[in-house]
Amino acid sequence: MYKRRIIAFMIIIAICLLTLVCRLGWLQLIEADEYLADGDKDLRSPPVWLPAMRGQIKDRHGRILAYDEPCFDLSLQYQFLAADPKWISRDERLKIKGRYPLDARWIAAQQQKIGRSENVSPERAEFIFRQRWDNTWALVSRVAGDNGIADVNATTARVVRRIQRWASARGGDVKDMFRPHPIVKGLTDDQAVEIKAELEDTIGMSVQPSHRRRYSYGEHASHIIGFTQQIDRGDLERFNSPAPAGNRLEWKLSLYGNDDTIGKSGIERAHEQALRGRKGYLVRRAGKISESGVSQPGQNVQLTLDIELQKTLRDIWPPGQRGSIVVMSIPDGEILAMLSMPQYDLNRYHETEYFRAITTDEANTPLFHRAIAGTYPPGSVMKVLTTLAGLTEGTLGENSTDYCEGQLFYDNQGKRKFKCSHRHGEIVLADAIKKSCNVFFYHAGEKLGVPKLSSWYELFGFGKSTGLGLSEEKPGFIVQRGTKGIARMMAMGKSKVDVTPLQVANFMVTVARGGHFASPAITISPPPQRDEYDLPLSDSHVTLVKDAMFRAVNEPGGTAYKYARDEEIDICGKTGTAEIDKITKLNMAWFAGFAPYENPQVAFAVVVEKVSTSGGRTCGPIARAAVRACKEMGYIRSEN
Ligand SMILES: [Zn+2]
Repeated sequence: MYKRRIIAFMIIIAICLLTLVCRLGWLQLIEADEYLADGDKDLRSPPVWLPAMRGQIKDRHGRILAYDEPCFDLSLQYQFLAADPKWISRDERLKIKGRYPLDARWIAAQQQKIGRSENVSPERAEFIFRQRWDNTWALVSRVAGDNGIADVNATTARVVRRIQRWASARGGDVKDMFRPHPIVKGLTDDQAVEIKAELEDTIGMSVQPSHRRRYSYGEHASHIIGFTQQIDRGDLERFNSPAPAGNRLEWKLSLYGNDDTIGKSGIERAHEQALRGRKGYLVRRAGKISESGVSQPGQNVQLTLDIELQKTLRDIWPPGQRGSIVVMSIPDGEILAMLSMPQYDLNRYHETEYFRAITTDEANTPLFHRAIAGTYPPGSVMKVLTTLAGLTEGTLGENSTDYCEGQLFYDNQGKRKFKCSHRHGEIVLADAIKKSCNVFFYHAGEKLGVPKLSSWYELFGFGKSTGLGLSEEKPGFIVQRGTKGIARMMAMGKSKVDVTPLQVANFMVTVARGGHFASPAITISPPPQRDEYDLPLSDSHVTLVKDAMFRAVNEPGGTAYKYARDEEIDICGKTGTAEIDKITKLNMAWFAGFAPYENPQVAFAVVVEKVSTSGGRTCGPIARAAVRACKEMGYIRSEN
């Protein structure tokens, strides 16, 4: 089916190109002057560029997530647009009047053509011209409406303004003034056929072969995959290099045109150069094709994601909540799934109403990639880090004990300051992790101090980008200097530290591996560039922490016992509840860990934003469901 469509598409392209090449004769006469004037010796007449198919984005099992689909664009000739004063500002009109009488010339030529072909008087030809003019706009707005574009006038005005700015900058005519420009992109085959039947009664309109980006899974992994859109001025300047001294053809083929699309976010942006391919061209000399080059499709990018696992995470996400789940493979540090909620539908991104809805939703910010750009206080999850830092630096011993009265001290008014969740009494390190005793870790933080804690945060990959290459990623923040009071808060992940869910998941990978750090990977092909090193952790310290994290989930009294324990899989984890608003009492709720206890294979981090419940209660069940899904999909093999 797909093959048949491609063949049909190729045939249509061939016909379109032939027509285009024949019809462009007079246009090229006009353009040729400018073209030769810029001193190009490679190409004697202006080339027709042939678009390249963009590479596909696939998941780890080769399932296609993003692909180019042959389609058609409804395009309007610039002269047709420029002939209508409503697209042109008054200033521009005054300027154009004297310098660029293109519109009038074009209208006259069109009317003469009609007069000749219909064999009618000039008056009648003018009447037919006006009729076709009206038909054109009626057709454009109908097709735009069918394709989810509410305001086609805005699109049209953008095209005209862009070309005018370009012409002003160049101080004269530019090639884009003699070309058709896509106004409604991504027509279906049926639409294209229907419009072609009506073209005769329109003016300045054409249907052109094109590609549109489609996403097989709609909203799933939308933040990671990212979207493409028509190139803007900033990107044109950023990516189009100045003319080189040598081969100008190669250079021209590498240039972006004003109507080209470009990856704007996610993988589409990060791997733009590999995905875009290289355009082809046709050059005419004396009416014949004298030179041509086929377009080269872009390279595919294969992700480490499992899109089915990604879909499952979406299914287990609590309705109406905002936050993220990251699941990573421990042996190779690959991201298996990375959910950011809410998400948005990549296939609907270019629909006017949908776009407006997702860009104006300030409460939920669906475009925001929380897994890598959401920076949150991590709360007590960081007691794991403080423990490993304290044990390695010697400020904590494996059998260290502390006494918890339920708070650190009373203030002048007799109010409890630096409270704990319970009055834990005499408590040993491992139990302080399991029960998440604050008092124990306030003291542990004081003993370590800010500089040491800060350097341990950095060793575990916090406070810097993970190197995924996605432009949305944020490094987070780790305070470098401060008082004992700051150290207390830092030891608990309460303030002065902001981390992303991905950083926390990768932290869990590092702990589960016994201290081997590697930056996380999102691509299999191209292969990721990674930082790798070993942290100076001793095996017995790591074992102590892992045991305590196992007990937090699997023993009564553990903070996640009621919420994350699974009958079949030995899950290890640490809860975190970071209060972000003293008045509303809303928390950033966390649960992070790995599974199974023996030979751990997957690590996870779950964060739910602004809830009134604890990390264990909110995130425990989500993490358990995620780990179960990992087992069902073969990422946790039962070896015992
Ligand atoms: Zn306590």
